[in-house]
Amino acid sequence: MDLSTLIRDVPDFPKPGIVFKDITPALRDPSALAQAIAELSAPWSGRGITAVVGIEARGFIFAPAVALELGAGFVPARKPGKLPWTAVRQAYGLEYGTDAIEMHIDAVRPGDRILMIDDVLATGGTANAAVTLIRRQGATVVGCGFLVELGFLNGRQKLDVPVQAVLKY
Ligand code: AMP
Repeated sequence: MDLSTLIRDVPDFPKPGIVFKDITPALRDPSALAQAIAELSAPWSGRGITAVVGIEARGFIFAPAVALELGAGFVPARKPGKLPWTAVRQAYGLEYGTDAIEMHIDAVRPGDRILMIDDVLATGGTANAAVTLIRRQGATVVGCGFLVELGFLNGRQKLDVPVQAVLKY
C-alpha cells in the first residue's frame, strides 16, 4: 500500500511554520504498520546488525520492532537526564540554542554494528549526534533508517553513513 496516504500533515505544529508529519494514522492501520516495519528492516537484513538504536521519542516506536526482525538488540537514545545509569551525552545545535541526546555508557561497545532508527529525518542534527555518540563508544554505524525523509532540508548530507527512508518528501 501507499503509506504516504496514512501520513497526516499538521500545519503550524508544534510552532508556526512547521508542517508536522503525523505518523499515527499509519501506526493505527495493521497492514501499514507491518509494511513500515518490513520496509525499515529489509535493507539491513544480513548485514550483521547487533543492535538498533532508537531516538526518543518516536524512534522508540519502530526501533524495537526492527531489532526483532533483524535478530538484534534495542538501545534507547534519550533526552538528557532520563537514563538512570551512567550516561554519555552528545550535544547538537538547533536553530536557537542546543539540545543533546544520551545513551548508557555500556549500551554499545567496540565490535557492535549499529543501525540507527528514527521516524523523521529533518535537518539531520539529531541523527548526526546519535552517529557521533555511537562512534565515541567504539561501535560501527552501519546505517540510518527513517520512515519519512524531508528531503528539502538536506539532512542526508549531514550523515556520512548509508541512509534509507521509506517515504521522501
Ligand atoms: P532533525 O534533527 O532536524 O533531523 O529533527 C529530527 C527529529 O525531530 C526527529 O526525531 C523527528 O521526530 C522530529 N521532527 C523534525 N521535524 C519534524 C516534522 N516536520 N514532523 C515530524 N517530526 C519532526
